[in-house]
Amino acid sequence: MGKMATDAIHAGEIETRPSGAVVLPIFQSATFEYGGQDDYHDLKYIRLNNTPNHQVLHDKLAILEGGEAALVTASGMAAITTLLLTVLKQGDHLLAQDCLYGGTVTFLTQDIADYGIGVGFFAGNDPDSWEALLRPETRAIYVEPMTNPLLEVADLDAVVAFAKKHNLLAIIDNTFASPVNFQPLKIGFDVVVHSCTKYLNGHSDIVAGGIVGTRELITRVTHRLNHLGASLDPHACFLLHRGIKTLVLRVKQQNENALSLATFLNKHPKVEAVYYPGIEDHPQYTRASRLFDGCGGVLSFEVKGSADDADRLMSRLKLSVVAPSLGGVETLITRPVQTSHAGLSREQRKAAGISDKLIRVAVGIEDGEDICADFEQALSD
Ligand code: PLP
Repeated sequence: MGKMATDAIHAGEIETRPSGAVVLPIFQSATFEYGGQDDYHDLKYIRLNNTPNHQVLHDKLAILEGGEAALVTASGMAAITTLLLTVLKQGDHLLAQDCLYGGTVTFLTQDIADYGIGVGFFAGNDPDSWEALLRPETRAIYVEPMTNPLLEVADLDAVVAFAKKHNLLAIIDNTFASPVNFQPLKIGFDVVVHSCTKYLNGHSDIVAGGIVGTRELITRVTHRLNHLGASLDPHACFLLHRGIKTLVLRVKQQNENALSLATFLNKHPKVEAVYYPGIEDHPQYTRASRLFDGCGGVLSFEVKGSADDADRLMSRLKLSVVAPSLGGVETLITRPVQTSHAGLSREQRKAAGISDKLIRVAVGIEDGEDICADFEQALSD
C-alpha cells in the first residue's frame, strides 16, 4: 500500500514538466499539429484518447492495477460496454454474475442481444453450478469483487480457475474494491474495468471509466472506443488525475469509517442486520480478509420495523446526503429500492435479497466517530 501511495502521485507522470509546471496542465485542444503519423489512431485528437492528460492517466492506472496498459473512458458504463463490444462478437456468449451493477445488468438484459451476443447468469458462490451454463460459444466471464448492495464476495479464485480451465477471458469490475483494496490481475483476472466516477476520482464531480489489461487488448479496446467515441474530456481527465493522487489516503479512511460504522450498527438494538464483509458475521468474512486489504466504504443494513422506519432514520441523519453513488468524500445514503434497484421488479428484488427497508451507506472521509455519532442520534428515540 505504501508503494501505491507513491505511485498514485508520481507514476506515469510525463518526464519534462511543461514550463516547469508541478501539476500537469489541461491540454484543452481538440486537435494537435500533424506529426507525420501514418496510422489514423496515432493522430493527436481528443476522441482518439491520446492527449497528454489521457496518456498520464493511462500509465498511472495501469501501474496502480498492475497491468501492462490502461484506457480511460467517458464513464464507467462506457468502459464496460466498449470492453464487452470489443471482446465479444455476434454469436458469442458471456457468463455474468447474477448480482452486478444495475446499469451493467440492463445492458446485458436489454441491449447486448441486439448485437447477437448471448448471456447466462451465474451465482458467484456456487461454482458447482457454473459448468452447466457453459456453451461452446462462451468466451468470457464477468464478476464484481463485492456485490451491490449486499456486499456478497464471490468465489473469485474459483472464477479465475474456471476461466483458465475453459479458456475464457476473466473480467472484473473492480469499482467497489479499488486497486487500494484489491488488485485482481495479481490473482489471475485478465481485465479490470472501473467506474472511475467512484473511488478513483473520489469527489463526486465527474463521471469517468477505466479499463486495464494487456497492451494487446487495450490497443484493441482503444481502437473500438476511437470509433464509438465515448472518450473522456481533458478537463475531466485533469480532475480524475487530481483525484487519483489522494486515492490511497481516502480509501484507507473509508475502509476504517465503514468498519467502525458496521461494527456500531451491528451492536445496535434497533438494527436487524448489517451487510459488510469486514465484520466477522458476514458469510464471506474469511474470504474477504484473505483477498482484500480492506473492504471499502460501502455497507448496507436493515432497521427493525418497516420501510417508513428506514426513511425516518434517513431523514434524521445530519451528516449524510441522501443520494446514490459512492466513493466520494462525503457520506451518501440511499434506499436501493428507490435508486439503484428501482428498475427491478419486486420479485427480482426479493430473489436478490433486497428488502424495501434496506439502507445502503457509502461512507466518506469525515471523522469516523462523527459518522457513528450521527447514526446514534438518528436511531435514538
Ligand atoms: N460499475 C459499478 C460497480 C458501479 O457502481 C457503477 C456506477 O454506479 C458503474 C459501474 C457505472 O459507472 P458510471 O456511472 O461511471 O457509468
